[in-house]
Amino acid sequence: MTERLNSNLTVRTLARDLGLAAGPDPVSGIVKFCQARIRRILAEMDCTQDACGILSLTAARLDTEFVDVNSEQEASALQQQFVMTGETGLALMRKEFAAGVLGITVLRLNKKRFERRYVSVINCCGRNAERAYFTKWHELVHLLTLTDQSRLSFRRTHVAVDMKDPEESLVDVVAGHLAFHPPLLKPYARRPLSFELIEEIRAAVFPEASRTAAMLGITKAWPKPVVLVKAALASKRNTTAKQLRATGVSVNQAAADEGVSAIRNFRVPEGSIIQDVFADRATRAEGTEPMESWVSSDGSHWSGGEFVVRAIRLGDCIQAIFTRN
Ligand SMILES: [Zn+2]
Repeated sequence: MTERLNSNLTVRTLARDLGLAAGPDPVSGIVKFCQARIRRILAEMDCTQDACGILSLTAARLDTEFVDVNSEQEASALQQQFVMTGETGLALMRKEFAAGVLGITVLRLNKKRFERRYVSVINCCGRNAERAYFTKWHELVHLLTLTDQSRLSFRRTHVAVDMKDPEESLVDVVAGHLAFHPPLLKPYARRPLSFELIEEIRAAVFPEASRTAAMLGITKAWPKPVVLVKAALASKRNTTAKQLRATGVSVNQAAADEGVSAIRNFRVPEGSIIQDVFADRATRAEGTEPMESWVSSDGSHWSGGEFVVRAIRLGDCIQAIFTRN
C-alpha cells in the first residue's frame, strides 16, 4: 500500500506543502515530520510513560477538543447543541456517524474565548469504541499535517477502510506510527516479544486500543527486529489452486535496518510451524526458522537469517511473530 501512496499526487503535494522533499518516499518523510513534532510537544512535559497523557497533551497543543459520542441519542443532542451555537459543520453528525464515519474534526466557526480552535467528535457508539484511541490519533494527524491552504476551511471526516481516498490512507499510516509511541515500549523490550507480551502491554499502556491495532502498532514500534506475518489460504495470480500464503507481512524499522526482507504472497514453507498450526497439529507453536526458507517459484527468497517464529490460529488465518529471541 505504501508504494501506491508514495506515487500518489495528493501525497506528494502534501509532502511539498509541508516543506519536505517529496523524493521517492514521501510517506516516510511525512511520518518523520509528524514524529518530530510529537517529540517537540512531549519535550515540554514529562508524560512519556502514559499513552493517554501523550494523547491529551498533543490534542491540547494542536488546539482541539475531543468529544466522545457514546450513543445515537448523544449524537442527536450534541448535534442540536452544535447547530444552536453556530457550528454548522456538525449539522449532519448524527447521520454521518450512523453511516460509518468514525470521527469528524472541524474548525470552530463561532469560537468562544475559553474554547479550543477545533473540535474533534469521536464516534464511540457500539463496536466503534474499540477504535476510539486510533480514531483520535487519526484526527490529530490531520491537524499535524495542516497546510496553509487547508487551515481556513478545515473539516475532515474519517470513514473506516476508506482505501479510495489517498489522504485518509496516508493519515492512517501516520497514526499507526504515532499511536504506539516507541518510548512507551522501552520498559518491556528486554523480554522476547510474544502474543502474551503484546496483550500485557496493550492492557497496561494502551487500554483504549483494539487488539488488532495493538498487534500491528506494537510490533511496528518495537525497538528490536520483528516481522509480523498473517498466513491464509490464497491463490497465486492467474491460478485458482489455493495454498497457505503470507497474505500480510509487516517488517518493522529495526528489522529493515538489519537488511531483513520479506515479501507478501510467498508460500509458507513446508517445514514451518505455521503449517503445523494451520493443519491443527498444534493450537500454537514456537520454533527457530531461517527467513531464507521462504522461497518463491522464481527462486527469489526472503532474507534475514534465523528468527524465532511464534504462531497462533486466529479464525481462518494464522498469525505469526518473527523475533530474534
Ligand atoms: Zn480522516
